[in-house]
Amino acid sequence: RAKAHARNTVQAYRPELTQAVQQRFELTHALRHANEAAQFRLEYQPQVRLSDGALIGAEALLRWRHPTRGPISPAEFIPLAEDTGLIIPIGRWVLETACAQAARWQGQPGKPQQVAVNVSARQLRQPDFIETVDFILAETGCPAQALELEVTESLLLEDAEAAIELLGALTARGVRVAIDDFGTGYSSLSYLRRMPVRTLKIDRSFVSELGQDAHVAAIARTVIVLARSLNLDVLAEGVETAEQAAWLQREGCDWAQGWHYGRPMPAEDFVLTPHALPDGPRRTLRHLQLA
Ligand code: C2E
Ligand code: MG
Ligand code: MG
Ligand code: MG
Repeated sequence: RAKAHARNTVQAYRPELTQAVQQRFELTHALRHANEAAQFRLEYQPQVRLSDGALIGAEALLRWRHPTRGPISPAEFIPLAEDTGLIIPIGRWVLETACAQAARWQGQPGKPQQVAVNVSARQLRQPDFIETVDFILAETGCPAQALELEVTESLLLEDAEAAIELLGALTARGVRVAIDDFGTGYSSLSYLRRMPVRTLKIDRSFVSELGQDAHVAAIARTVIVLARSLNLDVLAEGVETAEQAAWLQREGCDWAQGWHYGRPMPAEDFVLTPHALPDGPRRTLRHLQLA
């Protein structure tokens, strides 16, 4: 009776908490079986050179269609996958699938010659991460140069020496490393200088407010200047308008990604948004020079 009473008390006291825990439990269970149930797929979003709109690559983004809830945002399920460790098998599937796609696209005009894959800190901390990358590149026939790994600033902060070693091993193989969502974390500039990375990705939050907020523009400009002075490439995320693209190009940003150029889409549908191309709507993909 006491037990039953205690349970009722908990439920009566914080019903929303119990519900949240229950939902999380159910979502974890579903996530655990999502891969074998073939509920995952990847979409690819174009990355272009700002100066002429040439396609340079694509970012692979994970999609999950839950059997009853439908599509669930990675913003919701990736953190859960990280907490539960499920990101290890899921991340491996992503890497394998993206590398296989990159290998298929090699030499095909109008298709991305480089694919960027998001990797969580937890994946990178696996002692066999480098071995896994080597295995997947060999297995899929994807050239190391065709793979870019997107890491977040938090990884660089947690253990800078370990990060330098790990990213150095990747770079030595020809794999490129990008820092995702740059500007939202707390990267120390002195660490950044020592990090074997190729690209800084300016976070979407800065790009989306470019026209509205002078401080935001100043931050974006600072990231561009920083990248150039460290001899890194810089890519702006979340470019939605021609005005944003023009501003970024004027400020010396090299690359861009966003709805203005193309939404994330299944590999078989991959195409650049025609109106975003420099010569207007009649210019077709066939005329696109690959960078
Ligand atoms: P991210 O790596 O920063 O990816 C960019 C996000 O911005 C994607 O959201 C993309 O769909 C969205 N986006 C791109 N262009 C625009 C635009 O012009 N406007 C707006 N409003 N949004 C745009 P998505 O696909 O929902 O992914 C969210 C985050 O989930 C990613 O952010 C990444 O951190 C994570 N994620 C996605 N796939 C994977 C994966 O395979 N592994 C890991 N570890 N994380 C992933
Ligand atoms: Mg990313
Ligand atoms: Mg990002
Ligand atoms: Mg982001």
